[in-house]
Amino acid sequence: MQFNNDVNNIIKKGDGYVQTNRTCYICNKESDKGIEILGSYICRNCEQEMIDEEGSELKMEYYKSKVKSLWRNNLS
Ligand SMILES: [Zn+2]
Repeated sequence: MQFNNDVNNIIKKGDGYVQTNRTCYICNKESDKGIEILGSYICRNCEQEMIDEEGSELKMEYYKSKVKSLWRNNLS
């Protein structure tokens, strides 16, 4: 199964992540590892924080409002 091997290699190497230094939409820090959502860059730290269920409620509200404005910007 060549296809499955390729997918596994990509996941291991982390090639799904953007490899250039960009400024994070949420924390405004530069990072070379992150994801792009709706054309805006979100660093890996913030991505992890967002999916971390142990995060504080206040933090979650902040992220939610950021992501919401991201959506709004792209829908308008
Ligand atoms: Zn960030």
